[in-house]
Amino acid sequence: MSRPDESLARVRKRIAQACTAAGRASDAANLLAVSKGFGAEPVRALFAAGQSAFGESYVQEALAKQASLVDLPLHWHFIGPIQSNKTQDIALHFDWVHGVDRLKIAERLALARQAIGTPLNICVQVNISGESSKSGCPVAEAPGLCRAIAELGPHLRLRGLMAIPAPSAQLAEPRAPFRALRLLFESIRAQGIALDTISAGMSDDLESAIAEGSTLVRIGTAIFGNRIKT
Ligand SMILES: *Cc1c(COP(=O)(O)O)cnc(C)c1O
Repeated sequence: MSRPDESLARVRKRIAQACTAAGRASDAANLLAVSKGFGAEPVRALFAAGQSAFGESYVQEALAKQASLVDLPLHWHFIGPIQSNKTQDIALHFDWVHGVDRLKIAERLALARQAIGTPLNICVQVNISGESSKSGCPVAEAPGLCRAIAELGPHLRLRGLMAIPAPSAQLAEPRAPFRALRLLFESIRAQGIALDTISAGMSDDLESAIAEGSTLVRIGTAIFGNRIKT
C-alpha cells in the first residue's frame, strides 16, 4: 500500500488530466477526500500534503475523528444518508451536507444551524437514472426542493446537486448519469436558482464525472486504499 500523500498526488494528477481532456481549467474540479473507515493519522498526513476538505458518512465515527483533529483547520463534508435524529450533530459539526433529499431534513438542519454564525452548505441529492442507492430525490422534484431550500433563510446556503450513479462497470454508457445531472443542474439554474456545485464522481468514475462537468469529486479508495467492509 502506498502512502496516502503519494496516492493523493496520483489522484490530483488524474483530476487535472481529466479536466484538461474535457477542455476545462485544470483546477475546475475540487477534491473531497473521503476518510470514512480510516483514522485521524492519514487525515493528518493528507493535510500536511495540502488537502483540507474531508468527507464522512457516519456521524459517530466522524465526531470522534474530528475531536482528535481539532488543532487543524479542516473542512468537513457529511456525505452519508441523513437520519432525522442526527441533524443537530450534522448541522453543528460539518461545513457541508451532500445528502439532503427532502425538505423536512433541510428545515431541521437550518434550525440547528442557528447556533453557528456561518451558513451550512447544502447539496441536494438526486436519484439520477441508474443510481444504485435508493436515496436521493426524484429528478422531477429536484427543482422544487432546491427552490424551497434556497428560501429557507440565512442558516443554509444551497450550493448544488449531488448524485451517486450505479458503478460504471454496470452501465452501457458510463457518462449518461453524469450528463443527466449536469442538464438538471443547468435547468435549475435557468430558473434563477443560484447553484455552483456538482458533487459527482468517485474513485472509479471521476473521469466520466469530470468530463460531464463535475465540480467536486468525492474520492476515498483511490487515496486511502480499500475500506474494511463491515
Ligand atoms: C464512500 C463514498 C465515496 C467514496 O467512494 P470511493 O469509491 O471509495 O472513492 C464517495 N461518495 C459517497 C457518498 C460515499 O459514501
